Amino acid sequence: MRATCWMGKGSIQVQQVPDPRILDDGDAIVRITATAICGSDLHLYNGFVPTMKSGDVLGHEFMGEVMEVGREVKNLKVGDRVVVPFPIACGACAMCRKSLFSLCENSNPNAWMAEKLWGYSPAGLFGYSHMLGGFPGGQAEYARVPFADVGPLRIPAGLPDEKVLFLSDILPTGYMGAEMCNIDKGDVIAVWGAGPVGLFAMKSAQLLGAERVIAIDRFPYRLQRAREISGAETLNYQEVDLHEALRELTGGRGPDACIDAVGLEAHMPGPLYAYDRVKQAVGLETDRTFALRQAILACRSGGTVSVIGVYGGFIDKFPMGAVVNRSLTIRSGQCHVQRYMKPLLERIEKGEIDPSVVISHRLRLDEAPHGYEMFLHKQDDCVKVVLRP
Ligand code: NAD
Ligand code: ZN
Ligand code: ZN
Repeated sequence: MRATCWMGKGSIQVQQVPDPRILDDGDAIVRITATAICGSDLHLYNGFVPTMKSGDVLGHEFMGEVMEVGREVKNLKVGDRVVVPFPIACGACAMCRKSLFSLCENSNPNAWMAEKLWGYSPAGLFGYSHMLGGFPGGQAEYARVPFADVGPLRIPAGLPDEKVLFLSDILPTGYMGAEMCNIDKGDVIAVWGAGPVGLFAMKSAQLLGAERVIAIDRFPYRLQRAREISGAETLNYQEVDLHEALRELTGGRGPDACIDAVGLEAHMPGPLYAYDRVKQAVGLETDRTFALRQAILACRSGGTVSVIGVYGGFIDKFPMGAVVNRSLTIRSGQCHVQRYMKPLLERIEKGEIDPSVVISHRLRLDEAPHGYEMFLHKQDDCVKVVLRP
């Protein structure tokens, strides 16, 4: 089959690789009809995630048709149309029983690698390094889906791929980011990053009752999308003193909750940027944290900082003093996608949210390398790239 392969930092190729096979009685093989490139894939592309190997198949946002099921699969049959969540979860371990699916204790065969870096291992993920299981991803013609009875969500006929594909990751992720803010009536929620994840966090904050949403980015076309999709007020951090601007918009107090939808490759002009770039380059710090730092300092006292941007390792200049002295709550996680798929599918069916609004480019699978470049450099007003195998 054809698959999008990571060939090294900054190098992606669509190559011929062996077809996936059923390896376990609980597996299914899915023929992929739509897949997408995520901001998390950019961290792989830029070489920030350790334990990638040349030739690894990328992709963790995908859907398609069930072609084959293992002997023990009961909930799916050949021909079903499914969306596959990016964390692989067994459904039976202590974490899965608490609905903490991205922390499944049974799905990462390389748990020991993750334990070295993080103390304990989270779940295995599709297409996301060997320390997270080395599972081939879904930017391909076919994928093997382990624990097929637990993850994949059957999609009713009549809903086009583009409306449901993002149930695999970014819609639940944005939603979880907003949910972690414990939104109260009248709350003001500020979101760093107007990428697809940030845009869904903003929309979700609105659905969950936020009175106002403030979007922060430097790309005018993305801030424009934020205004259209969720009625957000927008701040371009290159044009204003962000802290002062947020203070002014919130009666001098700061937003009730701040969502970091940027992650470890945050951009920021100025001396701190140079400082972090150098430290990151020489390995003294693995993650650049401007957005997170700003979010912590800007959040109102007693408020919540919800971190859905991905971080991988260690950070520097972390404003712990602000967290303690101003009673801030920090919440975070890789999304527990399985928990949100059904309720969000219902919202899509009711027309409360149309996830396809973030799609800016539709490409053939063979054009994936171009898709990565365009999405990385935010060229051609790129917001979200969908690939069709
Ligand atoms: P993206 O690259 O399209 O969006 C990131 C946005 O952040 C860009 O618009 C960029 O201009 C903006 N940005 C950069 N520096 C900033 C700063 N200092 N202040 C404000 N904005 C800044 O990516 P995306 O697909 O939207 O993903 C965003 C993050 O979410 C990534 O880190 C990704 O890995 C993460 N993610 C997490 C989960 C999860 O389960 N927690 C799931 C999916 C994606
Ligand atoms: Zn993702
Ligand atoms: Zn589990």
